[in-house]
Amino acid sequence: MLRTAINLSVRTFHTNASSSIKCNRLEGKVAVVTASTDGIGFSIAKRLAQEGAKVMISSRKESNVKKAVEELQSEGLQIEGTVCHVAKAEDRKNLFEKTKANFGGLDILVSNAAVNPTPDFVLVQNTEEVWDKIFDINVKSTFLLIKDSLPLLKCSKSPSIIIISSAAAYSNPYSSLGIYSISKTALLGLTKITARDLASDGIRVNCIAPGIIKTRFSKLLYKSEESHDVAVSQISMRRLGMPDEIGSVAAFLASSDASYITGETIVVSGGTESRL
Ligand code: NAP
Repeated sequence: MLRTAINLSVRTFHTNASSSIKCNRLEGKVAVVTASTDGIGFSIAKRLAQEGAKVMISSRKESNVKKAVEELQSEGLQIEGTVCHVAKAEDRKNLFEKTKANFGGLDILVSNAAVNPTPDFVLVQNTEEVWDKIFDINVKSTFLLIKDSLPLLKCSKSPSIIIISSAAAYSNPYSSLGIYSISKTALLGLTKITARDLASDGIRVNCIAPGIIKTRFSKLLYKSEESHDVAVSQISMRRLGMPDEIGSVAAFLASSDASYITGETIVVSGGTESRL
């Protein structure tokens, strides 16, 4: 099967088209997007800013933060950045303090960080340490980020939380992603429960479950012609997704266009099985 060239130069995955975005649904809002110096998080941060939000981006490495901030600011977007390893309490505290100091508050939290150190079937080579690492970053840090953000979100007029799960949450056809898939299933539950708990505060909580999106993270699933062909054979639309196709869904969920949606997960996968 013919396929388009697989180029891992990160920015080739993103359109550079601020001017083509005509909506300004997020004017006056402030957003925090974790793990946002590359891939899906970068696209989400860019799209929220293109729609008028002031966005605090972050990731573990200062050099990545600097590079991404410079790139987005050069497009005229209202972006600041800081280092935040989502599993570090001090980093999370600093993230929200800086957001308040720079932008005056918080309306939108996007929890996007995840790891999958040793993709493998659940009961093959995995150890307790691998389980703990995956659940610490993917699930516990999301819970803690939500907790840490509440004092600011409760002061917002239209607060919203978006959790990035995965189509792998539905386990089929991705069972080879193992513990990672289970952690992403847990995020569907976290979305449902927190949406119910926070509804009385006016805080909407929703989730996006991307299919295979062309980023460094998913490289294993498409780097060879063979793996690419296997991947697309399970997708109705017969192509991989692009990070900007997640950014647009995040902008919708954060906006007043989604004002009556909470506790939901939108699967963005070009058509793959998505039932538990
Ligand atoms: P990516 O392209 O590899 O980008 C990862 C980003 O996360 C980088 O900015 C990285 O920067 C940062 N990061 C990594 N660990 C971090 C940590 N502990 N704390 C803070 N930042 C961290 O990954 P991606 O594909 O965009 O994935 C983003 C999210 O989408 C993840 O939740 C993933 O599970 C989900 N997802 C991806 C796909 C896909 O096919 N790509 C499909 C479904 C779901 P530093 O190295 O500087 O920290």
